[in-house]
Amino acid sequence: MQQKIQLRLTPGEAQHSPTVLQAISQSLSIPVSQITGYHTLKQSIDARSRQQVWINLTLLAFVNEPLHSRYSQNIEFPILPAHAKEVIIIGAGPAGLFAALESILLGYRPIVIERGKDVRARRRDLAALNKQGEVNPDSNYCFGEGGAGTYSDGKLYTRSNKRGNIDKVLRLFYQFGADENILYEAHPHIGTNKLPHIITAMRAQIEASGGKVLFEKKLVDFVIKDNTIQEIMTADGDRLKAMAVILATGHSARDIFYLLHQKNIEVQAKPFALGVRVEHPQSIIDSIQYHCSTRDPYLPPASYSLVEQVNERGVFSFCMCPGGIIAPAATANGEIVVNGWSPSKRNNPYANSGMVVQIDLPTAQAYLEEEKINLKKEDPFTLLQFQQRIEQKAFQAGGGLQVAPASRLVDFCNNQLSDTLPSASYLPGLHAAPLQEVLPGFVLQTLQNGFKAFGKKMKGYYTNDAIVVATESRTSSPVRIPRDPLTMEHPQIKNLYPCGEGAGYAGGIMSAAMDGQKLAEIIAFKYK
Ligand SMILES: Cc1cc2nc3c(=O)[nH]c(=O)nc-3n(C[C@H](O)[C@H](O)[C@H](O)COP(=O)(O)OP(=O)(O)OC[C@H]3O[C@@H](n4cnc5c(N)ncnc54)[C@H](O)[C@@H]3O)c2cc1C
Repeated sequence: MQQKIQLRLTPGEAQHSPTVLQAISQSLSIPVSQITGYHTLKQSIDARSRQQVWINLTLLAFVNEPLHSRYSQNIEFPILPAHAKEVIIIGAGPAGLFAALESILLGYRPIVIERGKDVRARRRDLAALNKQGEVNPDSNYCFGEGGAGTYSDGKLYTRSNKRGNIDKVLRLFYQFGADENILYEAHPHIGTNKLPHIITAMRAQIEASGGKVLFEKKLVDFVIKDNTIQEIMTADGDRLKAMAVILATGHSARDIFYLLHQKNIEVQAKPFALGVRVEHPQSIIDSIQYHCSTRDPYLPPASYSLVEQVNERGVFSFCMCPGGIIAPAATANGEIVVNGWSPSKRNNPYANSGMVVQIDLPTAQAYLEEEKINLKKEDPFTLLQFQQRIEQKAFQAGGGLQVAPASRLVDFCNNQLSDTLPSASYLPGLHAAPLQEVLPGFVLQTLQNGFKAFGKKMKGYYTNDAIVVATESRTSSPVRIPRDPLTMEHPQIKNLYPCGEGAGYAGGIMSAAMDGQKLAEIIAFKYK
């Protein structure tokens, strides 16, 4: 017999299986000897009580029957026959890789074209970026095998539960090497140290099934005839015939947006969010969230999620990384972009989070006009230019190369230049700078008021021990590549399928992966 039960245990009890078994036996009123094992179906932390932090567990207990493994078998990938039809996928990020895996399951051969390097070679470019501040425009935190997902934080939480099959994506991450806990934790997290192996295992599967993943191959043009894509062209002079092309090049492939526009293929301006990354000592966040002076060793480093409406503009935390590191995520020299990641143990002494403000088209337009930047009427690149302008200003205010401009939090809110900066996780280095010279006035004020309001919600958050770093600007794409809601093709170009975050249909690893799967299904159905 299998019984689903709910338990509320202390963090120490929840990690001690004999205690959990005891609690199951009490809950079911049966002796422990009858329980053969259990699976955790859901696990979450309840830190609302000031006296005790609780772990809420939903378990499946096995009673008087053998414990079954969670899945009777892995999802099996076939070896594709020689005559399998080919789908070309541009970009090996989560959208591209999950499109490739799904294509294989549906009997199609994926040919993945990736401008960056494989995981291992990419690591050397990231080391140079962190140590010498040099950005390789084709191999960085956004470009290369696994896309922005490989050296990301690997949080797998999404609210997009209508966009696809979340369980299938999680199950595939697990099958390719993620820990089992991603299957049941309320906020699953893989960690940057584990993602490269998982991405490599996915590529190995694609190749073993007869697909291809081609590195250092950059899409530079398409051949279009009769409003249908015929071929793709790469920077090294290759031309590949195309039955269907999934374009999953991510939000940082600005050259792709410009290429489409040059070829009179419609792209549209899309609102996005921009701001700063804020970093606190993790101990401050732990003591606020867990109401304690020292964190219970059985609890993970605490996180937070904040949102506030300031003068009708939303300001919110984004991609919070407990025990994390602030990373240089620019894709070109002369700009500064920051983001965050953390290892699976989240054991760095800092907690960082993006803190961003929603940017719409009229505000971006007004700002660029003030800055005397010429805009064409209905320019689809208004928001992209806004984004780039702020990233370049951050570079000018920084200390050269990837040394980012920063301020202590309270100084930032008072428009004061910080005399000193606290120690921080950002490896290329920080430079105390007046961030009011980097951020547009409305972003600055919204953030300042937001931080003060967050300080009231979380006592101790508003402190000069925290640091604010500019600029968090690649939260989502500032450009959308439209697609027909039924066929999922670009409305003007047959067989061209805009996909993932860069096209504006995803925001994060999970939704990008689900979008990739969905397009693979649509294509398979069309060519069946
Ligand atoms: C440091 C960091 C931390 C993050 N943490 C998280 C997190 O914890 N959780 C989360 O959900 N999201 C996180 N993200 C965001 C997440 O990584 C992205 O949302 C996701 O990767 C988007 O997937 P995608 O496949 O649509 O695009 P991308 O991952 O951007 O992949 C696009 C791929 O296309 C390739 N490409 C671009 N142009 C060309 C071309 N011309 N020819 C060939 N290839 C090309 C790129 O090299 C890249 O590999 C993080 C991102 C960063 C940078």
